[in-house]
Amino acid sequence: MTVLFTHPSSLDHATPEGHPERAARIEAIFKALAPFDTLNRRDAPEVTDAALLRVHPQRHIDAITAASPASGLAQLDADTWMSPGSLRAARHAAGGAIAAVDEVLSNGGNAFVAMRPPGHHAEKTTPMGFCLFGNVAAAAKHALDMHGLARVAIVDFDVHHGNGTQDLLWDEERVLFISSHQMPLWPGTGDVDERGAHGNILNVPLPPESGGAQMREAYESKVFPALEAYRPDLLILSTGFDAHKDDPLANLNWATADFVWLTQALCDIAARHCAGRIVSILEGGYDLNALAEAVAAHVNVLIEKEKR
Ligand SMILES: [Zn+2]
Repeated sequence: MTVLFTHPSSLDHATPEGHPERAARIEAIFKALAPFDTLNRRDAPEVTDAALLRVHPQRHIDAITAASPASGLAQLDADTWMSPGSLRAARHAAGGAIAAVDEVLSNGGNAFVAMRPPGHHAEKTTPMGFCLFGNVAAAAKHALDMHGLARVAIVDFDVHHGNGTQDLLWDEERVLFISSHQMPLWPGTGDVDERGAHGNILNVPLPPESGGAQMREAYESKVFPALEAYRPDLLILSTGFDAHKDDPLANLNWATADFVWLTQALCDIAARHCAGRIVSILEGGYDLNALAEAVAAHVNVLIEKEKR
């Protein structure tokens, strides 16, 4: 079974006119996924403070709560904004990631979490890059602490480095965090020598204009062998679609077929090691047509792999 987690609060997180991370992204995804009648659709609950506190100190939760504007927009950094609906949206986005872990570990199958704001740039005490809370890292910690898993692998194929996830899980020896990303590109981190406190981080930088073939070669030579050797109990995906050739923020030039290939390969690895248990959590993707097409293709693979 493939479960889709969403919440209407994702539409109430407003950003300034012209900002790439906008509510229309979720509208495009809802429209693209509407024809998928075998998807099991669930409302994402709000995250608990206890779940956030596994990755952020209380003062970060307090700071984000205090920054929430009563009206208008509050600017947290050059790229990161909050509107009156943002705190609730962020709490449901993190809650959806955690509920997806509960679903997949209780009932098997896989899940896609189509919510915003994204999370992989949020550091322990720093909201950053459109992100307020570390959704993926909180989901991984929940799987470890509440379900007793020994090894969780995260693959972040958003075009930007998952600096926040890396920061939140730097010294977590029960996680293997793998990020592929364009380099050089904002936020500038993600070099191969950033390995984590226990060698638990694998960064796979890709040069601008490198394309789908070079991505496949990097995954086959570096990422897949690392995952096979690690034998994860759960695979979490930080699923960004901004490596797409039509995306305005980067230049990795992947085609939708490359996202399909990558999703299929990751599903096959999950099938071998963790009964196909994958939690895929939306990060970036800013060209609405490319985003809709790639999300539909990604979710279609999740559904097809789960049928077998
Ligand atoms: Zn991104």
